[in-house]
Amino acid sequence: MDPQLKKISSRYHVFENWAHTFICEPELYFTPETEDEVEKIVIFAKAKNKSIKVIGAGHSPSDLACTKDFMINLDNLNRVLEINREEKTVSVQAGISLNQLNQELWKNGLAMSNIGSISDQSLAGAISTATHGTGINFGNISTQVTELTLITATRGTLTCSEKTNPDIFKAALCNLGALGIIIRITLKCEPAFRLEAIQTPAKFDEILNNLDHVVHSAEHVRFWWFPHTDDCVLWKANRTIKEPNSSTIGYIRETLLGYHLYQFLLYLTRLRPSTIPRLARHMFKIKYSTPTCIIDDSYKVFNIDCLFPQYVNEWAIPWEKTPEALRKINQWTKETNSFVHFPVEVRFVDKDDIWLSPSYGCKVCYIGIIMYRPYRVAVPYKEYWKAYEQIMRSLGGRPHWAKAHTMSVLELEKCYPKFNDFKKLMHELDPNGMFLNAYLRRHILGEVGEDVDTRLFKAKL
Ligand SMILES: Cc1cc2nc3c(=O)[nH]c(=O)nc-3n(C[C@H](O)[C@H](O)[C@H](O)COP(=O)(O)OP(=O)(O)OC[C@H]3O[C@@H](n4cnc5c(N)ncnc54)[C@H](O)[C@@H]3O)c2cc1C
Repeated sequence: MDPQLKKISSRYHVFENWAHTFICEPELYFTPETEDEVEKIVIFAKAKNKSIKVIGAGHSPSDLACTKDFMINLDNLNRVLEINREEKTVSVQAGISLNQLNQELWKNGLAMSNIGSISDQSLAGAISTATHGTGINFGNISTQVTELTLITATRGTLTCSEKTNPDIFKAALCNLGALGIIIRITLKCEPAFRLEAIQTPAKFDEILNNLDHVVHSAEHVRFWWFPHTDDCVLWKANRTIKEPNSSTIGYIRETLLGYHLYQFLLYLTRLRPSTIPRLARHMFKIKYSTPTCIIDDSYKVFNIDCLFPQYVNEWAIPWEKTPEALRKINQWTKETNSFVHFPVEVRFVDKDDIWLSPSYGCKVCYIGIIMYRPYRVAVPYKEYWKAYEQIMRSLGGRPHWAKAHTMSVLELEKCYPKFNDFKKLMHELDPNGMFLNAYLRRHILGEVGEDVDTRLFKAKL
């Protein structure tokens, strides 16, 4: 091996995702510091007939980023390359984390228009799976990208945008790591802004019966429903010029009760799952039954504490179908006497024209379900997942690509008009499958068999 590559590679690296649900041991693990080194790794992998997976922050709750061959970590390619305050654009290396990016933008009087619940992801990782926040008139994070540069297997390094290589651009904005390695990204931002977020208790039917009004009642709206109860928490945020207020959420309520006590009590419910509804009611009363108002820098308000390891599943459906979906989930828990964890998170995203984006051509509602793994123990979740996926499928749902799901290639072809164009482009840019892994073989190529079985990567389920 080239001595330069030897210096930045290691053996025996064990990769585990954030939720500790998927694990893999790549043959070689690379930590390049320059784009030139990334290109060299691609040439080396080609010569050795090895596949490559780039890893971001490892936050995908599936085997999407897993591989047995070469894994590349781009954490060291995290520089801001250019900030244009007049045009409100920023160009960065693709390994930058959203946390770092938020702060760099803020120092320069700019901010991303919308982000998700956390900022621990790498920007490239977030884009590769169409990571989203909430706001019916705000697209997912990929819609903020104006240009990106991709190292491909066959066509070298390509820059793409609406004008240059537009097809590759529309595919690369939600690329699942299948088209090559993104090394540079330019984003359109907006002037730095504060958000005022008001969180109030609300009732399930009250929200669902007035969904149109609720969804359009603020720039960014989301709500959490506590299954087995009719309690919800409604969160609405708008841009504001008001001064930041000191957070009204204290350490005791947030950390001691919201994290530690909740984790402990959830752990106990494993012995008697029928106590979950009571726990839901109590936690709601302690933590969410009084309204709160936070005014702060936008990125701090968008982000929340996602607590401890969990199984999650999340699909997007046309937003008008939200009431039907939630009522069906509610009905299923009642009819089957199943006890599931709270909350169910409901968010809204504007439509776009990104080939594999779950919001392609349609404003959507993402419904996220969760089963926590207190102290990382296993909890039963498969029946819940099965029922949930059946409901979401029946309503024209598309799964979040980062999350483990059971959509077959035939189903995906039906719900994504550009699915086969994506596949064709993937074959053109990567005819030998250098960027494929088990996840992509299952869900994009439709291959079955031991090599593409999720169990290969599952360590702790
Ligand atoms: C606690 C938590 C909260 C979350 N909140 C949200 C949320 O609010 N909204 C939402 O939509 N999702 C959310 N997610 C999912 C998360 O945003 C996605 O899984 C995202 O892809 C993770 O980014 P990452 O940097 O960890 O990427 P990884 O999980 O490491 O990788 C994801 C994919 O991107 C590819 N990739 C990474 N870098 C590159 C690159 N440079 N070039 C090409 N391909 C690349 C990988 O190969 C892989 O296919 C959350 C996940 C967790 C664990």
